[in-house]
Amino acid sequence: SRVRDMFEQAKKNAPCIVFIDEIDAVGRSRGVGYGGGNDEREQTLNQLLVEMDGFEANEGIIIVAATNRPDVLDPALLRPGRFDRQVQVPNPDVKGREKILGVHARKVPLGPDVDLRIIARGTPGFSGADLANLVNEAALMAARVGRRFVTMEDFENAKDKVMMGAERRSMVMTEDEKKLTAYHEAGHAVVGYYVPQHDPIHKATIIPRGRALGLVLSLPERDQYSVTYTKYKSKIAMAMGGKVAEELIFGKENITSGAASDIQQVSKIARAMVTQFGFSDALGNVDYANEQQSYLGSYSGGGNVSPETQEKIDEEVRKLVDEGYAEAKRILTEHADEHHRLAEALLEYETLTGPEILKAMKGEPIHRGDDDDETPAPSTPSITAIPKTKKPKSKPGDDTGGMEPEPT
Ligand code: ZN
Repeated sequence: SRVRDMFEQAKKNAPCIVFIDEIDAVGRSRGVGYGGGNDEREQTLNQLLVEMDGFEANEGIIIVAATNRPDVLDPALLRPGRFDRQVQVPNPDVKGREKILGVHARKVPLGPDVDLRIIARGTPGFSGADLANLVNEAALMAARVGRRFVTMEDFENAKDKVMMGAERRSMVMTEDEKKLTAYHEAGHAVVGYYVPQHDPIHKATIIPRGRALGLVLSLPERDQYSVTYTKYKSKIAMAMGGKVAEELIFGKENITSGAASDIQQVSKIARAMVTQFGFSDALGNVDYANEQQSYLGSYSGGGNVSPETQEKIDEEVRKLVDEGYAEAKRILTEHADEHHRLAEALLEYETLTGPEILKAMKGEPIHRGDDDDETPAPSTPSITAIPKTKKPKSKPGDDTGGMEPEPT
């Protein structure tokens, strides 16, 4: 009945647009799932189909729906006369991100140093929702220190939080764990620096974030639409750099389970190279993955590939990973000095930016504004905070009187 009501209203208000978000909630294929399906949902879907059929072309109602899962929709929904046009909306490019940031930042008072274009450039791969989250987090960072506007540094900290997870400074790590993490992450970074075509390294940290004990983040300089064979191989080598570092410094018998997610990532890349991108001469340009691939790209293996082929796939995947491991080992052996220096710097400063990583590797001193042992607290404002009681000067771009950062 709610579907009927909706269409009644639409007819009354025609011409109009009906927008249904997350259409897959009601639009999933009928007759699948437990117990033959969900009655209420199926009735809703049936009614929707009926209403869409009942339309006269001249009624002036346009129905638009959105979903992340076009693959699970009931085929009847996609027939001509119903949702018969599909528009793919990929993640925004750098221009799109700047505009989206502009929309979300409208209600947030921005400091004079904030340049949305720079933020857009530093967030490749972010979706619209990620960007909304970023602005929100930045506003919260400013609010937390009682500042009435959001600075570029807030955005930088918010970006780290969104990309790497929240810092868990309270997590207790022993000195040994810290040292191991420092060498592990330094291993990633040094290999990442020396492999060809790798994205510049943005940050390295040994402060636990989310579920990771440490992290090295590299960021592409621009939006990427295709990736070369060499770059994939470099990614594998860099991901192996952590485990290789543990092995070289602490010995094979002291390797930890900390490389599990690295290994997961490496296997995924190597498998995709072999089964999807035609990067293996032995297997040629055949798509072995698509048949068994779910929409979101997870590979389930097996399927209708012959056992011999499957064996060959495994062999080739293994070869790519082994080559990456060897490459990482070569780099970390040849550049052992840089590896040591970077690990030491990480132990001292805990978090290093891209330029600081380079300095540390070269053995140049890292200058930080404050000379205490602590890493600069993320809340340190780069611009003097305006006391809450004082009325801030109005800045260009602030059209309304609402000066509070508004988490939405
Ligand atoms: Zn790692």
